Amino acid sequence: MQYISTRDKSKEYSAAQAIVQGLAPDGGLLTPAYLPKLPGHAIAELAEMSYQQRAVYVMNLFLEEYSVKELTEYAVHAYGPQKFDTELVVPVRQVDQNTYALELWHGPTCAFKDLALQMLPHLLSGALGKTEEGRDACILVATSGDTGKGALEGFRDVPRTKILVFYPKDGVAAMQELQMRTQQGDNVGVCAVEGNFDDAQTGVKKMFSDPALREQLDQRGYFFSSANSINWGRVLPQIVYYISAYCDLVKSGALVNGEALNICVPTGNFGNILAAYYAKQMGVPLGKLICASNRNNVLTDFLTTGVYDRNRPFYTTRSPSMDILISSNLERLLFSMTGSDDEQVAEYMRQLQETGRYEVGEAVKSRLQKHFAAGFCDDERTLLEIERIWKEKNYLADPHTAVAFSVLEEYRAASGDDTPTLVASTASPFKFCDSVLTALGITQQAQGTDIMDQLSHETGCPVPAPLAALKDKPIRFSQSTCKEHMADRVLEFLS
Ligand SMILES: *Cc1c(COP(=O)(O)O)cnc(C)c1O
Repeated sequence: MQYISTRDKSKEYSAAQAIVQGLAPDGGLLTPAYLPKLPGHAIAELAEMSYQQRAVYVMNLFLEEYSVKELTEYAVHAYGPQKFDTELVVPVRQVDQNTYALELWHGPTCAFKDLALQMLPHLLSGALGKTEEGRDACILVATSGDTGKGALEGFRDVPRTKILVFYPKDGVAAMQELQMRTQQGDNVGVCAVEGNFDDAQTGVKKMFSDPALREQLDQRGYFFSSANSINWGRVLPQIVYYISAYCDLVKSGALVNGEALNICVPTGNFGNILAAYYAKQMGVPLGKLICASNRNNVLTDFLTTGVYDRNRPFYTTRSPSMDILISSNLERLLFSMTGSDDEQVAEYMRQLQETGRYEVGEAVKSRLQKHFAAGFCDDERTLLEIERIWKEKNYLADPHTAVAFSVLEEYRAASGDDTPTLVASTASPFKFCDSVLTALGITQQAQGTDIMDQLSHETGCPVPAPLAALKDKPIRFSQSTCKEHMADRVLEFLS
């Protein structure tokens, strides 16, 4: 399987190259040249396998240069019992008669990023050998919250890598910040940026394409690599859990093999829902993919009108991991929807860069709407939804997941589509205790990490072990920087 850039498909890259580089030299995203189809018997076969085996099966279709033995080692480490608190890895929980939650937060940082970020470091360190790269990888991450901790935990003490995470100073939840600032490991760094997520992300992207800075890194024996969700090594492990969930639903008898399943995903950078789209392209019988946004509803507008316009106010919300105005992974969807028209995609991205806006034609728009529905939900409705789902369905949802439940409810009412639906449950509610307690009407809230015990006491749900352990960890990082000086922080970190 070869990989091509969404902005120039004339040059091909191997899987290992795609993973090492993160981004194509032309600024495009490295994407499989085609999507392999699952053979007809695959779902039935996969249904009998463990999650780790399913991961090996699916990833093997995309990663020619990696042996099954290597992939098996990676999967056993990434998704083993020392990392995930359930043998199922991503359990599917029934919420009501035709709604299921895909719980993606049973890993070490209690958010869905773990599924990809526990795997990516293995894929990357394997790729360094395969590409005969002599330098070590310097991973730069811009995070709106959960990616940062997930990447730190995934790369911690992985040989030949160093990782530096930038997060927006006032744009992440208290628990997310504490998780990052207490990170352990000898190859890690964390720095706050004055600004919002887009400032941090734009700063990181700039550094990636700064030739002078790359040269300075080279002299120190490093090269830049990305753990952001644009890296193919992030998207691929996410395809696995949609296929896995479908298998589980067939296995439990909730679905007959072949029956349609809708997917509803709380969306920010468009990585998670893109993986669902790829699973569908591979032949999993998925129906509508419902893209749920918070008040930063640039994707709702795009999927409804065909106009992507980032010229709008940026809101800091209770679902910070979705506070994004430039959804990077959307570029891969555009590539697919235009029939791999790299020139057209490059043109959209040029317009986005220059004017903050682009518009797709009618043909692309109708293709988008064939696969996707979209909606959004503000903070007020998010809190009401947390309360409703808890009281009516006995399901405790974090604010991101609640956005998805709310949008699904609205979609069902408007469309009459009652297809069974899988909602991506993307974070543990214990990462956002203040929002969840507020939603449940509890205004007297405990301080610091005690708030987790309070939420546990109120709901009877246990505090996940990795969050409970935060109480005893010392703060290791307290640096912050303005966005103009991010490159200085990188050079300090590597010296
Ligand atoms: C990252 C994240 C999202 C958004 O996922 P994308 O792949 O960026 O669309 C949603 N919810 C949570 C909890 C997240 O951490």
